[in-house]
Amino acid sequence: MQTCPHCGWENFEGIIYCDRCGVALVRLPLATRMLASSPDVQVRADTLGPDGVIILQVGESDPPIMVQIRGEIILGRISQASEEATYLNLAPFGADEAGVSRRHARLLRDGRAVYLMDLNSTNGTRVNGESLAAGVEKRLRDGDELLLGRLKIFVYLKQ
Ligand SMILES: [Zn+2]
Repeated sequence: MQTCPHCGWENFEGIIYCDRCGVALVRLPLATRMLASSPDVQVRADTLGPDGVIILQVGESDPPIMVQIRGEIILGRISQASEEATYLNLAPFGADEAGVSRRHARLLRDGRAVYLMDLNSTNGTRVNGESLAAGVEKRLRDGDELLLGRLKIFVYLKQ
């Protein structure tokens, strides 16, 4: 068994994506295309294919987190597996110092679209510098820059 470092789920050996939270358990190579998204919001993709993967580049130097999202996932500082919700624990990326709430924001996949929603966090959520009101779904595009408190996360949608 291998324990998922993000949600604590025990996965069978050889599995790439955690059965519970969908986060990649091995570090996958990142195509350079992903890190060179167009700054023009109109030409950046806002859809995810059926087997699409969301890549979260947290901070400057950490290897990115790859998530094969199936439903919804809570971004925050909770690491234990829970029956009600799937959590992505950002504590290893300096979430405490950056003012990330325990349940900060929700990533939701609906068909080919991916949405972000702030869960009434203490220090708020920003998308490309714009403040996101709590409880409002914001559709994400490839290359969007998120701020959870002061924690910067770039989002890439891999088809
Ligand atoms: Zn997991």
